[in-house]
This record gives sequence, C-alpha cells and structure tokens, in this order.
Amino acid sequence: MRRFPPCQTGWRLASTGLLLAASFFSGMTDSASLAQEPPGVGQGYTDTPQLPNQMWRVHDKYRPRPAVVAPGEQPGSPPSDATVLFDGTQLDAWRKAGTDQPAGWKVEEGSMVAQGGSGSIETKESFGDVQLHLEWSAPEPPRGEGQGRGNSGVIFMGRYEVQVLDSFQSDTYADGQAASIYGQFPPQVNAMRAPGQWQVYDIVFEAPRFDGDKLARPAKVTVFHNGVLVQHATEMIGQMAHQQIAPYVAHPPKGPLLLQDHGDPVRFRNIWIRPLREEIDPWLTFPAGQGAGHGKKVVLIAGDEEYRSEESLPMLADLLAKKHGFQCSVLFPIHPETGTVDPNYGRNIPGTHLLEDADLMIIATRFRHLPDWQMKPIVDFVERGGAVIGLRTATHAFNYPGDSESPYKDWSFNSGKWPGGFGQQILGDTWVNHHGNHKVEATRGIVAPGAADSALLKGVENVFGPSDVYGITHLPKDSQVLLLGQVLTGMNPTDPPVEGNKNDPMMPLAWTRVIPRDNGSANRVFCTTMGASVDLANEGLRRLVVNACYWATGLEDAIPAKSDVEIEGKFEPTFYGFHPGDHFKNQRLKPVDFLLR
Ligand code: MG
Repeated sequence: MRRFPPCQTGWRLASTGLLLAASFFSGMTDSASLAQEPPGVGQGYTDTPQLPNQMWRVHDKYRPRPAVVAPGEQPGSPPSDATVLFDGTQLDAWRKAGTDQPAGWKVEEGSMVAQGGSGSIETKESFGDVQLHLEWSAPEPPRGEGQGRGNSGVIFMGRYEVQVLDSFQSDTYADGQAASIYGQFPPQVNAMRAPGQWQVYDIVFEAPRFDGDKLARPAKVTVFHNGVLVQHATEMIGQMAHQQIAPYVAHPPKGPLLLQDHGDPVRFRNIWIRPLREEIDPWLTFPAGQGAGHGKKVVLIAGDEEYRSEESLPMLADLLAKKHGFQCSVLFPIHPETGTVDPNYGRNIPGTHLLEDADLMIIATRFRHLPDWQMKPIVDFVERGGAVIGLRTATHAFNYPGDSESPYKDWSFNSGKWPGGFGQQILGDTWVNHHGNHKVEATRGIVAPGAADSALLKGVENVFGPSDVYGITHLPKDSQVLLLGQVLTGMNPTDPPVEGNKNDPMMPLAWTRVIPRDNGSANRVFCTTMGASVDLANEGLRRLVVNACYWATGLEDAIPAKSDVEIEGKFEPTFYGFHPGDHFKNQRLKPVDFLLR
C-alpha cells in the first residue's frame, strides 16, 4: 500500500511525471559500509523511464538496496531482525494485561501456559504493522466443548483477535473457530492438528489507520495456520466483540500484542515478531508552480543538530516552489536503522545525486561526514560551477576525522591543506566562534556600506534573528558584503545594540561571491550566518534568501520589488539547541512530517 504525502499541503503534481512518492528506505547499518557505496551502486540506470507513482526510475541506480536479513536456521525460527517475545525460558517481554504487574502465566518445558484466572498477558512493547510467528497447543486430553475447549486468542493492539481454540473435531460457530477473525470471518479451511500437538500461526497484521476520530483504512490480516492460508488480507470489521458488531474506536498507531486467558491452559512457544518496514519518502519533492524560477531546479540539504534546518528548508522549498516557480527537493539526515529523520546522525543524507542536473544547492548542514558516494555529487556540483547558498552552520558543513582516507576529506571545516575546507574556500569562511553571546544576544541585520543598491536587498527590511552573530575572519576580497550583524543586548527585535568592540566593527552577516571555474562557468555563492529555523520566521531574512535564489540562478533581473515570502500554512519553528543522542531517532519523524500544515 503506497501512501502519498497529505493533500492538504496544496501541492500540485507536476505534469512532468515528477511525483511525491514513497519508497522503502533501507540503509547501511555500520560505519564501515557507510564509507562505501551501497552494494550494487554502479549497477543500474539513470536514463530509464520514471516508475509510475514512485520517485525511482526503472532499475534505478540509486534506489536503496533492501537490508540484509539472516533467515532463521529452521522454518519457523526467528530471522536476525525479529524481536523474540518468548524463547521458552522467561516472560520478560510480557506483563499482566492493562497493568504494570508481571505476567502470571507459568513457564514449563519450554512453553508458557495460560493459568485460568491469572489474566491475559500483553507485550510491554507496542507494535503497529507486524509479521508474527507463534506456536500454540490446546490441552490434551481435551476438556469442554465449543468455545469452552482450548480457548485463547492472539489479540493485536489489544483489540483485533485471531482466535485460538481447539477446533479439532469439535464444533462451534464458524466465526469463532480457530484462526477465525472472532465474530467476523471464519478461516477459509479448518487446518487444525489434534490437541496436544503444536499449531503454528504465521500472521501478517496491518493496523487500522485513523484520520482524527474517523477510520481511514481498516485493519487487515493474513493468517497461515500450520502453513495453510486461512485468512487472505481479510479486512476487519472492527475490534473483537462477542454477540455484537463492534465499531472501530480511534486509538494510537501502536499497541501491545495480547494473549488471552479464557480459563483454559493453552500453551504457547516460539513467539517472535517483526515490525513491517514502513514506506518512507527519504526526501521531499516540491513541483514548480508559477513564477520566474520555472525550469530551475533547487536541492536543499538539511542536516544539522542544532538549528532545525529540517524545519526551515521544507518551508523555504514550499515558498520557492509555490510562489516563485522553482522545482525543489529537500534532503534530510536519515538514520539508517529507522529510515526516519535524525539530525544527530551525521553520516547519511540520501538523494544528493539529485544535484546532477540541479541549478542551485541550498545547504544548511553541520559537521557532516557523508559516505563518499553521497558526497561525490555535492563535490561534482560545486566543481562544475553550480550555484550555492549556505545557511548558518554551512560554514562548517563537513567534518572528517583526521585519519579519513576519503578523497573528499579536504572539504572538512578544519582542513589545513585546503584551508577551512568547503566553508572557507567556497562560502567564504569556516567555523570561527560565537561572536554574539549564544542564546543571549540576538542579531539585527544592518545594510553594509555600499550595498544598498544590491538587487538582493530589494524589499529587505528589519532583518532580525534570535541566533547570535558568528565570528567571520577569513572572508576573501572577492566577497560583496550585503549585511552586517549587529549584536543586540537581548533576544528581542527592539533590543538596543551592545556597546563597544562587538559592534565596532560589525561582523559580515550576509554576502555574495562569484568563483570562476576552469570550464568557463562560475559558482554564484550567497552565504548568511543567520538561518536557524526561528530566524527564518523573519520576513526580511526570508526575502533576502529568496532574492538570493533568483540571483544565484541568473535571474537577478527578475527579482521583484518585494518578493512574495508569505508562508502558506503553519510554520512553528522550534527554538534552536542540541538534543541528546537518540532524541530524534526515537521521535521517528518522516520527511513528510515536516511539511507545513
Ligand atoms: Mg478467544
């Protein structure tokens, strides 16, 4: 099932066939493999047709290869990426359902046994879409009849039941026998073994989706019972109920797996579960609307731990595409284990190959150490004379360890051989220091002497940002400074400037450069040391950056007197700052979650 970004963003799908599509993301999980191209890059095509509703071409060279999983040694034993919920020895993964108390079931002879009256048990961990394997055995000799004979249940999210019952030569209502969706759908066939023998369930469960309180997509379940298909993508009517039709009631996207205590000593063993891989867009694409930028392609690269470029760049891309006609793609730092956005993970930004035919790169990364195959398109782009806009931490965009053997290690912010690396050599400076007092003294943009007539400053007024002024000390003579950074005494736009040396002279805050290339082209470069997501809430700064996009792509004559920089939708930037290691990884945010709402 393929999901598209929500349509309320008002994007228009371009007629070029460029689509906002999902794809499986799988990445490399160790640093050794990150240093190299993923297996098989080099194998594939870049000139084949675009696959419908996907961001990939047929046989796409850059399409991430699926992660490698070691299958179980025997049929039914857990593969390497499974979470083992019961291995025959202890109940650590379980608790008494609905409580924080230990699970009250007995562990004996490698199985766990429901104890009548001890209550149902549930996993401590919550799950959404899963593959589940479990084995169960009804009491031998059998006791009772119908629903009173070997009754238990596998209840996904604590709500959606696949029935467990001794249905071997024992009658009950069809939608209540083993492997039925209880009260809804019987199994296609009765594949029971005799009581006392082990029954095997292999189940694929897809959680229902809700749009607010409304059901958007029902739960879906596929069940193999002893290897026999008995439920085939069965869409559930609602949560489990007895003698009635229960409706869906909206609930969180994940919930515990529950095993029912129905009073019968049913045994379970060999239980493992695998969350289904989520379909995630590794990057976002914004088709061009109307505007002077039509035909120009912009790649925006987020990836900093501190200043929330993952928030600001989608906003900027939306603006550039909708209001100015640029086609934009926003790349994100993606954690390879989760496939979700993780600015603290410095070694993976998928999609840099989109620079191959781009006109402009907007980069806001900080201290990245990308694998060579992701870095190469960035280097190639700059070396062929592509236009570059650097925001804030881009002065120290890259950081390679001293013993790096990468051919791109001199792009490091602290390179001695190519002094200051990409920051100093291309943008104009590398990391120097916080000149203004960090988080205490905000920044006002002052038009630099002689710059007032610059096309880039058309309509630019009242530039202000809560981030501090950076020290800038290496700016080459070819730079044209547009704004100077006035250090303020506080964090408000109306605060007076700090007196003394800090503002005398003021540091360069925004400037342009043109760097000629041997091939006759030239990099048009714009850099500002502002650019925290909270800075870009400022209209003046947004207009300056938008104007810079025109200039950098050779459209300076088309810069409007007052560029439209009104944000459509809610832009609520987070105040800048660092977060501990797994903070973002645990948030599991997808690129699409950063679209304006
Ligand atoms: Mg039951």
